[in-house]
Amino acid sequence: MPRATAAIDWHARARLLKPRGEALINGRRVSAQDGTTFASLSPVDGRVLAAVAAGDAPDIEVAVAAARGCFERGDWSQQAPAARKRLLQKFADLVEGATEELALLETLDMGKPITDSLRVDVPATARCLRWYAEAIDKIYGEIAPTAPDVLALITREPVGVVGAIVPWNFPMIMAAWKIAPVLASGNSLVLKPSEKSSLSALRLAELAVEAGIPPGVFNVVPGYGHTAGKALALHGQVDAIAFTGSTATGKLVMQYAAQSNLKRVWLECGGKSPNIVMADYPDLKRAAKAAAAAIFFNQGEMCSAGSRLLVQESIREELLAEITTLAGRYQPGDPLDPSTQLGAMVDETQTRRVLEYIAAGREGGARLLLGGRRVREGSGGCYLEPTVFDQVQPSMRIAREEIFGPVLAALSFRDLEEAIRIGNDVDYGLVAAIWTRDINAAHRAARALRAGTVYVNCYDADDITVPFGGFKQSGNGRDKSLHAFDKYTELKTTWIDLA
Ligand code: NAD
Repeated sequence: MPRATAAIDWHARARLLKPRGEALINGRRVSAQDGTTFASLSPVDGRVLAAVAAGDAPDIEVAVAAARGCFERGDWSQQAPAARKRLLQKFADLVEGATEELALLETLDMGKPITDSLRVDVPATARCLRWYAEAIDKIYGEIAPTAPDVLALITREPVGVVGAIVPWNFPMIMAAWKIAPVLASGNSLVLKPSEKSSLSALRLAELAVEAGIPPGVFNVVPGYGHTAGKALALHGQVDAIAFTGSTATGKLVMQYAAQSNLKRVWLECGGKSPNIVMADYPDLKRAAKAAAAAIFFNQGEMCSAGSRLLVQESIREELLAEITTLAGRYQPGDPLDPSTQLGAMVDETQTRRVLEYIAAGREGGARLLLGGRRVREGSGGCYLEPTVFDQVQPSMRIAREEIFGPVLAALSFRDLEEAIRIGNDVDYGLVAAIWTRDINAAHRAARALRAGTVYVNCYDADDITVPFGGFKQSGNGRDKSLHAFDKYTELKTTWIDLA
């Protein structure tokens, strides 16, 4: 971190910050139609950050109408890609210019360490906006190889109005993965952030307006899932829903689409990812460091968390000893202290949910090696120790269900075939990893593991250029990379008879 940033008194900054909780519709901040709000509480210390508009069906109605109106008028959809690019680049510039404010908002709203918000969340958001801005005026249509008396053009058109529903674990990045390709390809957007972390998305929409993106193109309606989220997914004038969240909610969103207008549904859902370490991997310290980061980064509130450590029996004790030592570095601390590596859980509900899984692990017969307790209770916030279970069996709940917290379940295996079988034996298929020096084993595992991303000798390596998404009940469609445009554009064939 730059020295100037490390020297900032984040507590003083936090006291001065006055986040706004109104919706942003058609370029303006507005209250919910019925005036209701809910308190956005900080998991850092329980303080109230803002009164957030509790959007519901009438607010979604107004936002979708604004988005549809602007799409039909062509205020944005009919601009040349190069013109959209310029405004999106301006938007990215403004995000970068507001780095400290946005990072502070993110940390206060969902509890992640300020250093991570500054180093990861804001830069990744700006980079995502810039990457899709840069891409959009470099994409060509096609001409089909038909008979010579025909000209068949294959073009891409924006799908129309996109509804995006996103979770709280990376509020800005998850939103940006939708915002950037949706807007670059000429659509209008209604975004519903998580009720647990609405503030940074609202601020992003303000910056988009400031950048000159026309009113109505990018609207944000905060509110609860069963009210605002459901209304958006049921709306007949929404052409596609881009959802990131739990598999259970993803299933509901699919039902809403079926009950309404068969809108396209793109789901980025949960995970229970296997991180497989073979005994031949020569650098166990490195594998242990990555395994600890894979489950403790972002408090374990990661869709791609390496929550199942699959370790070959002969190195089990050595590897787990390394990991538990390293886990000591992830003791929960004040998220506003730049040296903190493990911050607060997002809220009380999630904290209790994770503690219930820890209890289930103990009761199910797994061996608790480390952690397992709530700590820093005097702070008024929500903090959990990094937790490691050994002797976990594949049938146990902590080996099958997504915990979404800093809880590692270690299982052992005899050979690669068994590792692959255990690795695939869950409902999810988001990411997987294998650590080995045997190139054949690496390739065999990469082919056999049913996951959208397979890491070899690394974990959570990331770049906007590669697609991200899941197999099985981890979802469908892909965020990031040029493939994201497949979700937000329709292919059109124009068949011209030249005879
Ligand atoms: P969640 O499913 O509870 O909520 C996600 C969003 O859906 C929120 O905005 C919520 O308000 C909304 N929602 C809830 N009920 C709804 C309903 N009935 N209709 C419409 N919308 C509704 O998930 P969460 O707890 O916010 O996020 C954690 C989950 O997100 C985890 O399962 C995690 O794995 C997943 N996730 C996946 C990815 C990915 O890229 N695959 C990335 C991040 C998080």
